[in-house]
Parts: sequence; structure tokens; C-alpha cells
Amino acid sequence: MHAVFGHPVAHSRSPRIHALFGAQTGIGVRYEAIDAAPARFAQALAAFAARGGRGANVTLPLKEDAFALCRSASPRARRAGAVNTLVRADGGWHGDNTDGAGLVRDLSARHGLDLRDRRVLLLGAGGAARGVAPALLDAGIGALWIANRTAARADALADALGDPARVQARGWDALPGLGGFDLLVNATAATRGGALPALPMALVAPHSAAVDLGYGTDAAPFLAWARAAGCAQALDGLGMLVEQAAESFQCWHGVRPDTDPVYADLRRLTDTQPTSD
Ligand code: NDP
Repeated sequence: MHAVFGHPVAHSRSPRIHALFGAQTGIGVRYEAIDAAPARFAQALAAFAARGGRGANVTLPLKEDAFALCRSASPRARRAGAVNTLVRADGGWHGDNTDGAGLVRDLSARHGLDLRDRRVLLLGAGGAARGVAPALLDAGIGALWIANRTAARADALADALGDPARVQARGWDALPGLGGFDLLVNATAATRGGALPALPMALVAPHSAAVDLGYGTDAAPFLAWARAAGCAQALDGLGMLVEQAAESFQCWHGVRPDTDPVYADLRRLTDTQPTSD
């Protein structure tokens, strides 16, 4: 039995994705969505394990809590300090983080972006940013600028990445002086709690690509800004969502599903029901 934990989680696409992976691979999948507020997450996870839970995904706002609850963690989860995939092992939880691999695979394999030597701006320093930053560095980008509303969290992420030659951290107010970027990644949850703060057009060059890790209505404001600023590509996080799920599926079942038909299914669904989970 598998599940996704989040708060809220009712509109999560993950149960649909894993059901489609199961149907495609012939693996019997039982996958549910469990709403757990942070204060009740440890208890809910223990109850899930007692019911036979073998693995789980973890989404907003529980990824750093999940890391703290793990008995062991993969190197990429330790670098992120955040876990989105839990595997039951020897009576405890092993944590992994597939977000970064999911983003890099979507950008490079699906959208044909060459990330090597690119100058990248990462907006945000929360759980998602912590997951994708190490994977972007591993993909060979040339420079990573992390800008966050709370500058101290950007500093903490830069310190944790341990790559001072390539990584710089700034507060949001420094954005006007940073110049143009090859790739802009919106890893904030800004549009969930209100509006995306104003971004300077000078961040964009004619060849720039922009990606919002959200999708549907959550991604719309940043992608509209990116198009207006002249980005050559403006992508949402739907492909990343499918790719990180495929990595989780492989962790649990030892088989990597074909993501293209599932991506096409979700794209159709999101075009007709644009509200994000
Ligand atoms: P967190 O709550 O961990 O972090 C939120 C981040 O957004 C912080 O950096 C926070 O800044 C910033 N932020 C929030 N509100 C504002 C605002 N009004 N103005 C500027 N910055 C703001 O969330 P996650 O990192 O887990 O998720 C971020 C986004 O990524 C979500 O939209 C989520 O859906 C998406 N996501 C998509 C995935 C996919 O597979 N496609 C996977 C994971 C996440 P501060 O530190 O100052 O509070």
C-alpha cells in the first residue's frame, strides 16, 4: 500500500499518476491521499505503517518534517534536507528526494534544454528549491543564483549546497541588479498565498527559458510574466510532477514506467481543470 501525504492533499494528481503507472506496468497499485497537518504527520505516518504502508510520497508542507522522521536517507535527500519519497525498510523509513531528478529529466529529455554551463536563477528556498538545486548543479549548470523573500533561507540553502564557486544567495530586493539568466525557475509558493511579487524584465534574455514548478492556476502568473518579458520557452511543472513520480515508482517497484502517455493524460486534465493540487 502506498500514499501521498500533504496538507491540503485532496486535489493531488499523484493517485491518478500512480494508478496509470500501475495499469501500464501490470503492477497492482493501491495508492491513497492522506491529509496530515504538520503537527499530526508523525502520528499519521506511523498509523499508515501499522496498516501495511510500504511507501509514500510527501508534498507541501511536510518534506522537511519527513526528512526528520527518516531512519536513513539517500545522498540526494540529505543534500536537500527534504524528502518526497519514503520507503519502508527494516521497521523504519528510508527517505529519498526525486524532485530534482524529475525537473532535470523533464527539462532535458522532454523539452530539449541543454543545462550545461547555463546561468540559472532559482526563486525560492523552500522544500522544492532544496530538492531541485543539487540536481541542477549535478546537471552541469555554470552558475546558480538563489533569490528568496527571506534572504536568510537563501543563504542557508547556498551554504548547504557547499559549492561557493557556482552558488550565490540574495534577498528578493537584489533581483534588479542580477542581469539576465538562461533559465529562471520559480520554486516559490507565492501564487498560493496571494500574488507573485513584481519581477524585473531585465532578468530575461531573448533565449531565456522559464519554468514554474507549479501548474494550472498556480503557474499562470509567472508564466504570463515570462512570456511578456520575452522568454523563448515558458514551461509549467506538470512534466516534473510526472517524472518525479516515475522515480518514486521505480524506488518502490523496481520498474520505471513510460511517462509520456501519463504526461499527455495530465496535460489534457489540466487544460480542462486548471486548479492545481
Ligand atoms: P515551501 O512552503 O517549502 O516554500 C515556499 C517558498 O515560496 C519559500 O521560498 C517562500 O519564501 C516562498 N514564498 C511563499 N510566498 C511568497 C510570496 N508571497 N512572495 C515571495 N515568495 C514567497 O513550498 P515548496 O518549496 O514545497 O513548493 C513550492 C512550489 O513548488 C509549490 O507551488 C509546489 O506546488 C511546487 N512543487 C512542484 C513540484 C512538481 O513536481 N511539479 C514538486 C514540488 C513542489 P520564504 O522563505 O520567504 O517564506
